[in-house]
Formats: sequence, structure tokens, C-alpha cells
Amino acid sequence: MSTSGLQKSSLQYAKSIQHSLELMSRKSITPQDAGCQDWLISKLSALGFECHQFEVEGVKNLIASIGEGDRTVAFAGHTDVVPPGPLDKWRVDPFNPELIGDELIGRGAADMKTGVAAMLAAAQRVLTPGTKLNNRFLWLITSDEEGEAEFGSKEIKKYLDACGIKLDHCIIGEPTAKSATGDTIKVGRRGAISGRIHVSGKQGHVAYPQYADNAIHKMAKVIEAMSSIEWDTGSVDFPGTSLQITHIDSGAFTDNIVPASCKICFNIRYSHKYDMVALEHLIKEKVSEVTQEFELQWERPCAPYFTQHKHQSSLIASIERAIFSNTGRYPVLSTAGGTSDGRFFSDDHTQVVEIGVPNKTIHQVNERIHLSDLATLEDIYTDLLSELLM
Ligand SMILES: [Zn+2]
Repeated sequence: MSTSGLQKSSLQYAKSIQHSLELMSRKSITPQDAGCQDWLISKLSALGFECHQFEVEGVKNLIASIGEGDRTVAFAGHTDVVPPGPLDKWRVDPFNPELIGDELIGRGAADMKTGVAAMLAAAQRVLTPGTKLNNRFLWLITSDEEGEAEFGSKEIKKYLDACGIKLDHCIIGEPTAKSATGDTIKVGRRGAISGRIHVSGKQGHVAYPQYADNAIHKMAKVIEAMSSIEWDTGSVDFPGTSLQITHIDSGAFTDNIVPASCKICFNIRYSHKYDMVALEHLIKEKVSEVTQEFELQWERPCAPYFTQHKHQSSLIASIERAIFSNTGRYPVLSTAGGTSDGRFFSDDHTQVVEIGVPNKTIHQVNERIHLSDLATLEDIYTDLLSELLM
């Protein structure tokens, strides 16, 4: 890193560093919020935001709003973090963050308290007294993204729908970069769903298989049918669909008994070419080719999302411009990785893009980022807000 970068991060960007330290010192292990949102409310209210906080099943959600206009721009994110893991492996107390050299270290340094901090610093830079916003600016913050995510952003979306608020642009501050802020942004994610299948047979003695019906043998054919499905292979922009069997269980084992029951678990990662209804139909059809007697259960569905350049006012293009003017590079548009809260906000109307700091150390012990990455993020957000809100 250059010396000028160092000066930049330690002086001009003291605000996003200070905000990060404030948030990271609150022990908000999912779904706890530990006062992060109350602190944000005090800062956002001072800027003129109207803040509405509500709790669902122990999950705290915050919607803050300022400005009016034809366009609604949202910043979305979470204040919860994953547990620290083995404390003796940390160089610092994970909830007493420290600046060591040019790095900020502590839980949430990448995922994603620095994202929230950079967004707050950017909002403070843009919303100076007397500034007139031509559009509406929302903050959508939850304390449960890392957990089940059942009562977080999903509930926020429900609330927005009930108020008739449609988002045009939604920027999520999740860590998306590979090695430097701005090198990669996420414009979509694959969907995910897990399922269980149970097939029954008839128990018997291994020496008399003619009187038994082996459930494992039957399940082997089910697995064969499921793994022979030809999925879409994806495109340059979006990875294809895949199904993996993740568990098999035929109950207690005895070496002279033909088992009467077999269960499998599986997980499907799917592209935007499928939806849940189509997948459920396809799997049912495949299993039915083998047996009519089975139970099929679905769990943890997460829809995919995919934002493209095609919109008239393209959020991707705005973000590319802001990144280019701060780093001199254009980002890689990625759809890789697990699921994210983007799925709750994305639809035909709402463009969702995730842009944040490098994600190399997320969920690890000694989670950390370089201060220059935080500074760059604050600059990118500032340019973005100036373009989208004014
Ligand atoms: Zn996150």
C-alpha cells in the first residue's frame, strides 16, 4: 500500500474507522443486536432519518427513511455476526477490535460491520445541512442474516410491501471483494434448497431375500435417477444447477437383516432458470420412476436472484462508474458463493447488487481488513449516493 493511501485511511477516513470500532465492540452474535441498531438510530436520526425499529421472534429489524422522489434507493445489511470460535486463537479480543498496523481486526471486520460503518460515513458526507435529496433513501438493517434469516430481511420486505414501498435500487454492503475493495461485486446468487426422501421396503433375513424388499437397493435406484438429471450448465454470468446427496441412513445395522427403511438428504444449488415449484415437480417425477411409495420433504428454501444490465437506469453501471473513479478498474461481476439476503429484495423491478470489502477472512478467527479497503468502500458509497440520490 502506498504512503498516500496510509495517510488517507488514517486521517480522512477516521469516521468509518471510528464507526467500525463502535459497531464491532458490541457483541452481536446472531440473532443478538447488542445495541448496534440503537447506536445506528442515534446517528441516522441526527442526519434527519425517520427510524422505525421492530422485533420479530427476538430478531431486531430497522427501517430508516429520508427524502422523497421518484426513485427509492436502499442500503441493506446486517448487524449480527457469527460466533468468534476458539478465543485462544485470536490475536485480540474479538469484541474489543484493534487497529494493528494497517489492519482492523475483530469479529465483523469484514462481515459486515465495516460495510455498515462505511455506509454511515458516506451518508454523513452526502447529507450535509441544506442538501436537497431528489429521491428517497432507505436503510434496511437486520440482526439475523447469519442465522436462520427467517425473521430478518424477509420481514423487512413484508413491511415494505405492506406500506406499498417499491425499491428501485438496493445496495447490500456484504463483503464481495477478492483481494481489494471494488475488484468484485455480486449481481446474483444461486438458489438453494434441501430435501429428504424416505423409502420403505420389507424387513427380512438376508438368507431369504425373496421374502424381503431391500430399502437400500430401492434407494440406490432413486439416487441413480436423481443423479442422472441433466441440469443446466450455466453461463458466463451464472453458474449452473447441481444436486448433491448429503446423507444416507438405513437405521440400526445388523449384518443378517435386510433393511426396511432408507432415508437420504440432498441439497440443490440452482440457477435462475429454475424455481422451487419446477424443482419439486422434477424430483417427484424422478423418484416416482423408481417407486410410488416414498415421502418427500423440503427444507430451507432460498430463492435465487440475478440483476442484469438491461434496466434503463442500471445500478450495475452506477456502481461500475463509482468503482472506476476510485480504483481505476472495473469490477468482475460475480454470482458465486452461498445465499444472501439479496434474494428477499430482488424482483423484476428491484435491482440488487452487493458491494463490500474483501471476504478472505470472513467467519474466521482473526477476521480483519486492510484500512485502505475500508477507505475505498466509503469513497465508492459516497460517489454512489451522490449520483443516485441527488
Ligand atoms: Zn454477511
